[in-house]
Amino acid sequence: MKRGRTVALCGGVGGAKLAYGLSRVLAPEELTIIVNTGDDFEHLGLAISPDIDTVLYTLAERADDTRGWGRADEQWTVMQELARLGGEQWFRLGDRDIALHLLRTQFLRAGKTLTQTTLELARCLGVAHPILPISDDPVRTIVHTDQGDLAFQHYFVRERCVPQAHGYSYAGAQTARLSAQVRTTLQDDGLRGIIVCPSNPYVSIAPMLAVPGVREQLRACRAPVLAVSPIIGGRALKGPAAKMMSEAGAEVSALSVARLYADFIDAMLLDIEDSALAEQARHDDPKLVCEPTVMRTREDRIALARTCLSLLDQLRH
Ligand code: GDP
Ligand code: CA
Repeated sequence: MKRGRTVALCGGVGGAKLAYGLSRVLAPEELTIIVNTGDDFEHLGLAISPDIDTVLYTLAERADDTRGWGRADEQWTVMQELARLGGEQWFRLGDRDIALHLLRTQFLRAGKTLTQTTLELARCLGVAHPILPISDDPVRTIVHTDQGDLAFQHYFVRERCVPQAHGYSYAGAQTARLSAQVRTTLQDDGLRGIIVCPSNPYVSIAPMLAVPGVREQLRACRAPVLAVSPIIGGRALKGPAAKMMSEAGAEVSALSVARLYADFIDAMLLDIEDSALAEQARHDDPKLVCEPTVMRTREDRIALARTCLSLLDQLRH
């Protein structure tokens, strides 16, 4: 029997690693990856979509895993010259990365949607699995901090997440429409399941949930919805998720992530390190499951993908 499609919702690094694992065990017609666009912005006249790029580069096996962003085997001639000329320096773009941004900007200026553009860039990079931005309309994360409201990249890159964050808004989300492709994917009656990847709940997953229809579709979905915690043993493996959680006044734990998603997930996958935490919580709803979730190697990513798929299949029965 033909298996239904699996949908992965993801941000950048954490999400892309699981999306990579899924892409190695599922055929392109069995997987759709829906990506956050809340980090997107324009810089030096270029259209930049950081999470989409991380997913594209990771699936194409061209990501720089050590740096955590951009392309492997990168060169910096443009940035060096820009520095000499006195151009803006706070956001770094490698030469190869710039080439991709030139193409994206050209496609968008020519009137293609972000969805068409992303699918075209995936084709250029040899990525066959569909990667879809959550919306073709702009959604922009704004971080409300003790130093005022900051556009996401200003908070994240320029200010290095130092300001205290007391809230988030997702400009444009309220009026953003789901693309036809995302809508059709989420409404598919034959889905195998939906996986919320181990991505930052505030700035990778929440901007997507803020687009009208997404949360509702997840709640109404007949197929199981499983989330993987990005918080392990009270820490984030990378990035500001733990700092954001504590500044939001929540306990820094996988359970806090489960609470944020409680209305639409059937189960939450916690790391094996959090077994005692899961035992104490003994929630029935959502169901808590503990398995290894740290993805250091390519094999780890594939193993976690298999774990998620088998959990989805168990949840369905
Ligand atoms: P960003 O957009 O690049 O910040 O990436 P995401 O939002 O997709 O992912 C960031 C989150 O991924 C952080 O909170 C990390 O703790 C989490 N993360 C990174 N690597 C792993 C991993 O191997 N396993 C798990 N469970 N979480 C991870
Ligand atoms: Ca991101």
